[in-house]
Amino acid sequence: MKRVLITGAAGFLGSHLCDRFIKEGYYVIGMDNLITGHLSNIEHLMPLANFEFHHHDVSNFVHVSGELDYILHFASPASPIDYLKIPIQTLKVGSLGTHNLLGLARVKGARMLIASTSEVYGDPLIHPQTEEYYGNVNPVGPRGVYDEAKRFQEAITMAYHTYHGLETRIVRIFNTYGPRMRLNDGRVLPAFIGQALRGEDLTIFGDGSQTRSFCYVDDQVEGIFRLLLSDYPYPVNIGNPDEITISQFAEEIIALTGTNQKVVYKPLPKDDPMQRQPNTTKAREILGWEAKVSRAEGLKITYDYFKSLPKEKLFEKDHKNFDGYIR
Ligand code: UDP
Repeated sequence: MKRVLITGAAGFLGSHLCDRFIKEGYYVIGMDNLITGHLSNIEHLMPLANFEFHHHDVSNFVHVSGELDYILHFASPASPIDYLKIPIQTLKVGSLGTHNLLGLARVKGARMLIASTSEVYGDPLIHPQTEEYYGNVNPVGPRGVYDEAKRFQEAITMAYHTYHGLETRIVRIFNTYGPRMRLNDGRVLPAFIGQALRGEDLTIFGDGSQTRSFCYVDDQVEGIFRLLLSDYPYPVNIGNPDEITISQFAEEIIALTGTNQKVVYKPLPKDDPMQRQPNTTKAREILGWEAKVSRAEGLKITYDYFKSLPKEKLFEKDHKNFDGYIR
């Protein structure tokens, strides 16, 4: 049985990856410090004989006993609100955490896949974004803590590949959504659905002309799985190229929820990218992958998930208390 370590296992993407690798017959070791992740995302895996969970912060030395075939590093705050609240943690998990895991991968002879992001392109000046684009990132702006951690993460991963011959994979993840997103993590999709369900106005930041391209989680996981098993060590964009403006997105959510909510406008956060759309030529040619789930299908599943949550969840500020974490 192949053994895989997944960091960020209790998070949104991490937990879906755990599910996938369990389904494929792997032995899965999940690791999470539970700052932004939640055990409820993986509690269904706890009784399984081929799953174990370690409560650990990978920014500190990581120990795993036994063999490892693969390491997937998905531990990181990933919503702009989170990484503003815990900027130092965000920098550490992308830099120190990645370094620790690369060291572990070397010792174990494991292949390492890192979760990078479309944020490495910053507020992009070319459109759609290809992997060759170097990006337009403000290192000292509010998003710098995330963007630069992820850029460093790519650099050190590539250095381990080049200088130590480590097998490495780099996925650049574009906006991804689905069940298990946190209702109050500040991201646009749970924000809009939460507002609609609470009967509040939908908050559009800026004039709503900025664009995003939303990928359903099952498509994202399929792309990551294929990349891991491929032999391609350079970055690959995984995302759904179907691009819309945030205003159109608000209209879709209002139609989906049938709530007739109004929209209100709030200032655009600093360095908020104006447009984002993946060029997925590499994913298609190298991995034979493309997004299959339409926004209409994916949003319906996600909406049903949020509706099924206990009502009080809708009104929780957040289940996370970040006090004491900025260190
Ligand atoms: N946004 C918005 N209203 C909200 C939350 C977000 O208009 O309540 C906008 C945000 O300014 C950005 C886009 O939606 O332009 C996507 O934001 P998100 O935080 O989901 O992720 P990003 O793609 O910016 O990392």
